[in-house]
Amino acid sequence: MGESSGPTPILRKAEELRALRRDLEGSDHPVVFVPTMGDLHQGHLDLVRIARSFGPTIVSVFVNPTQFSPGEDFDRYPRRLEADRERLRALGVDAIYAPSVDDVYVPGDQTRVEVRGLTDPLCGQHREGHFLGVTTVCTKLFNIVRPQVAVFGQKDAQQCLVIHRLLRDLHFDIDLCIGPTGRAEDGLALSSRNRYLSPEEREVARVLPRALDRAQALLEEGERGRELIESAMQEVLAQPEVRVDYADLRRVEDLGRSDMVEGRVVAAVAATVGGARLLDNRCFEVGRERVRLAPLLDECTPAHLARRWPMQQELPEEFL
Ligand code: AMP
Repeated sequence: MGESSGPTPILRKAEELRALRRDLEGSDHPVVFVPTMGDLHQGHLDLVRIARSFGPTIVSVFVNPTQFSPGEDFDRYPRRLEADRERLRALGVDAIYAPSVDDVYVPGDQTRVEVRGLTDPLCGQHREGHFLGVTTVCTKLFNIVRPQVAVFGQKDAQQCLVIHRLLRDLHFDIDLCIGPTGRAEDGLALSSRNRYLSPEEREVARVLPRALDRAQALLEEGERGRELIESAMQEVLAQPEVRVDYADLRRVEDLGRSDMVEGRVVAAVAATVGGARLLDNRCFEVGRERVRLAPLLDECTPAHLARRWPMQQELPEEFL
């Protein structure tokens, strides 16, 4: 579908999606899926731009109730489907899948899909049932959309690792593509939840990327003691308006912790500022002498996957 054609179709039913999916069968290019909860910002749109370079693209907009813990923001989560549709139309998306809760969780639904281990630390400790909701809804969506490539954002690093595990363990024939974290000019990671911040809170929220800067600076200076680096991140986050859930330096491989930092690691922070729970992370390859910024998973970068698939368009330069 061309970039300037009519409004992007919004499909509500799994059957409609299946019909579209049949039409896309036999395309030279992979069918690409970008799952979202909507209220799309530039971070989401960049994932869609990556997706479009691969092939026909389906974006889901679904605020999934099962991934919210009791007392969280499910009811007030921003829902702006028409604005989302406008943004997606400009990018030439083939369809938006925006089902109702009952369409995804059919009456009598009793099935949950669980990834163990990787879901225990970090957000798993602070958001009860969150990942069970994520892995269950993603399994449902993958089965309905049947993509060949699924694009997720590194902003939610633990989610990426959990989905990577899910795809492997359940033998889904889907390649995970992880796009970089989209940021505001001042460094704050874009998030639909940034809407909840007052201007003052927005200012305070900048401590999240600053905590990651601090971890990076220490690693670059040669520090390898995990506890010291984590304490330094906590220090940056220690503001009266900030409630920290975690500021951890963990192995990417299993999200475990080593006393001395080495290999592929992720510095991950989560904190609530005002009414907004915010996340950020940065990934490093740490050697004895040297440290470099690194992707979360080498085989999931857009550039790596672009070498595996016949592309519809070249990847935008910033993702190469
Ligand atoms: P959400 O709508 O927040 O559930 O996110 C949908 C997808 O967009 C997930 O794969 C997120 O990781 C990704 N995402 C959210 N925020 C960003 C961001 N700032 N940069 C890149 N990807 C993001």
